[in-house]
Amino acid sequence: MTLDPVVMCGVECMKMCRFVCIVANQLKLETVAPYGKCLIAYYLRNEAIKGGKRTAEVIYQCATCGLCTEWCLPRVDVPEIVKDVRAKLLEKDVAPEATVELGERARSERNPYGEPHNKRLAALRKGKKNGKKKEGGVAYFVGCTSAYKQPSIAKATAEILEQAGDGFTLIDEEWCCGAPLLSTGHRELAAEHAKHNKEVIERSGCDIVVTSCAGCYMTLSRDYPKMGFPLKTRVLHLSQYLWKVIEEGKLEIRKTSREKDLKVTYHDPCHLGRHMGVYEEPRSVLNSFARVQLIEMEWSKRNSKCCGSGGGLQLNFPELSRKIGMERIREATATGAEILVTACPFCKNQLEGVSEGKIKVYDLSEFVAKHLKTLE
Ligand code: SF4
Ligand code: SF4
Repeated sequence: MTLDPVVMCGVECMKMCRFVCIVANQLKLETVAPYGKCLIAYYLRNEAIKGGKRTAEVIYQCATCGLCTEWCLPRVDVPEIVKDVRAKLLEKDVAPEATVELGERARSERNPYGEPHNKRLAALRKGKKNGKKKEGGVAYFVGCTSAYKQPSIAKATAEILEQAGDGFTLIDEEWCCGAPLLSTGHRELAAEHAKHNKEVIERSGCDIVVTSCAGCYMTLSRDYPKMGFPLKTRVLHLSQYLWKVIEEGKLEIRKTSREKDLKVTYHDPCHLGRHMGVYEEPRSVLNSFARVQLIEMEWSKRNSKCCGSGGGLQLNFPELSRKIGMERIREATATGAEILVTACPFCKNQLEGVSEGKIKVYDLSEFVAKHLKTLE
């Protein structure tokens, strides 16, 4: 068998990935299946095709969720191939308009939403010192979605960090981590963000930087080193930090109650689960609540289905993204759970938006902050 993944997809494989791809299952189209994308990569590399708007449409119809890789015997890294091709298509000026505009917004306001940069940390900064020159301790990297779209997650995370006894500092001049830029092909801009964030995080003097967002966690800890900007600071996702402080006895939530159980199901964010292997900590946190009965969805952990918002899919193809999200909600409600918890503001934003009131959706931070008291 050849070692070239792109060739392997095209000619030497049974193509099992087609049965799990969330996009191919929605569009019912072989072209958008993972191997279709790999063939496009192959043809582009060999200059057999030029790569125009239709090529770009297919290549951007991917959530970079990585589920196909789990079902691929030789483990072809389809998300990385897709991101590579996207960077080339962006250079060729055929990327979707929404992706081009994303880059413009990030350049001017340092976030993908185009919200004013000076409002990023305003709510959290009230009554709080800036994260300057404090040696040691925890810094909170808020992330764009918590800062602008899901401020209740930022607030809940701040409460938890305070309650765990460590306190926290904010990072002066935090910019978008770069995840949406990397996944849509804006590599140079992502590198600019990585360089900047490395400087400001290390300048804060913290020992640990905690992220709310699965994408921020993956980017800071996995992608910054690959881009040549490794952080000297330890990076933890909030779920890991929560489990750490619970185990250290700094956050007490193991209480009994005579009240009825809460049926909860957990959605693994692709960037936290499949891409970073963090499956157990969020579940351990949820299982720490005596009243929580955790019920797994049919597709969970390494086989978890994507919420449909990642990899620029929500940005470029909102209707397709919405249908994928609704599918995940259907799976969540089929468990009989009344609450769906995830551990990423981006997933929460998507799942809450498509849930149509069928199930309550929380980020882990919100669930913990809300139930710390009521579940005692
Ligand atoms: S991604 Fe893997 S499973 Fe899919 S066609 Fe390529 S080699 Fe086969
Ligand atoms: S990464 Fe996800 S959306 Fe993209 S081809 Fe693979 S399964 Fe499909």
